[in-house]
Amino acid sequence: MKRIALGLTAVLVLAAPAKAQAPLGGEQPLLRDLAADVSADRLRATDTRLVAFGTRHTLSDTTSDTRGIGAARRWVASEFTALSHACGGCLEIQTPAQTFTGQRVPTPTVVMDVLAIQRGTTDPGRVVVISGHVDTRVSDPLDAKSTAPGADDDGSGTSAVLEAARVLSRHKFPATIVYAVLSGEEQGLFGGKVLADYAVAQGWQVEADLNNDIVGNIHGIGGEIDNTHVRVFSEGARTNETPEQARARQGAGQELDSPSRNLARYMQTLGDRYLTGLQVRLMYRPDRFRRGGDQMEMLKQGFPAVRVTEAAENYDRQHQDIRVEHGVSYGDVLDGVDFPYLAKVTRLNVITLAALASAPAPPSQIDLQGAVSPDTTVKWRPVPGAAAYRVWWRDTTEPQWRYSRLVTGAAEGKLAGVNIDDWFFGVSSLSADGFESPVAALGVSGSFDRLPPIAPPAPYGIPPTTPKGR
Ligand SMILES: [Zn+2]
Repeated sequence: MKRIALGLTAVLVLAAPAKAQAPLGGEQPLLRDLAADVSADRLRATDTRLVAFGTRHTLSDTTSDTRGIGAARRWVASEFTALSHACGGCLEIQTPAQTFTGQRVPTPTVVMDVLAIQRGTTDPGRVVVISGHVDTRVSDPLDAKSTAPGADDDGSGTSAVLEAARVLSRHKFPATIVYAVLSGEEQGLFGGKVLADYAVAQGWQVEADLNNDIVGNIHGIGGEIDNTHVRVFSEGARTNETPEQARARQGAGQELDSPSRNLARYMQTLGDRYLTGLQVRLMYRPDRFRRGGDQMEMLKQGFPAVRVTEAAENYDRQHQDIRVEHGVSYGDVLDGVDFPYLAKVTRLNVITLAALASAPAPPSQIDLQGAVSPDTTVKWRPVPGAAAYRVWWRDTTEPQWRYSRLVTGAAEGKLAGVNIDDWFFGVSSLSADGFESPVAALGVSGSFDRLPPIAPPAPYGIPPTTPKGR
């Protein structure tokens, strides 16, 4: 009995086979050009400007033009506006906001995000997001007066968002790209909720949120130096699955194949192919151990989302009053950010956004047939705009997709000699010019389609009452 597939029979399902015009899934020079465009100097200039606002605490002054979160948010909006002027008005700037109170927000406070929206040319309802949070803090989470530079947490992520906007706004993409600068993270992930609620209210089909939080430091708390790895955190089982969906997932052993996980794998594959000196470490949890980030609010609304974080964190530099104690320097100052490293992480984001926005949507409604037979048949719903598909499979203990077969003119494929019990399966879609989507996996648990919360949260604009306490 042969262990690995030797053949694939494509069953004709679509009326007219689409023509492939380029080597599918092959080299994309655009992605190399975009990566080369990312500038460490620009990132340094942006982060330096952010730090100069003194504090960007969510509860800080919003009226000053020089200090506090209001000034910082207006500066971000002005940067987006300048980029939009440079691309003939290609960016639409929006500032969705909600008023919150909570454990770390003693009086009702407006939390406002700054978004730049680059509408897709042919598929504008399909949205990919890059996010970072502009707000900062020191040791006391309620201290809105002390200097809180937040150079790494999360001036680094905010700088990556602005640099991605600068590089990508010079090009056009089929799907929409949203550049999101969030507030209120340190007080309870409120800006993440504002973004997620806004996405729902707009009816966006969010395929990915790349949440960049703490992405510029290379000196770890244990003395290690790591400027060649970045961690991408992704959930296993989807946040909103129902008990019935959980049973279906368990019966198929699909806990390793959420859309967020396959988004992380996609980033790793792109990084390996297009970047030098940076490797993605796949982290099989939604965030650091028992911690959170703005991507959790996107997951709670049923959107695929990952957290991007430096490989080696330094806790002396996070959430600390600036001081020297027993010869140890504390505080999130600019010296703690390595801009060549931040540039590499930004490149990873830029090529991922460009690839996602250029490719068709990942297939959905993936079904597998073949129990108690020697072959496996993979079926899916045809994707508008897809010229072809690739059926993927891998060993059940392998972290990455390994084997694949191209399928044209059909929305199903039979893998002869591949036993359904022994492998995990997925499908990607390909555009006519060879851009490939992430791999989607079986059923609801593996689909990139939104999985809304079972009990809908408070409607848009109504302040929640539950503190997050992170
Ligand atoms: Zn942060």
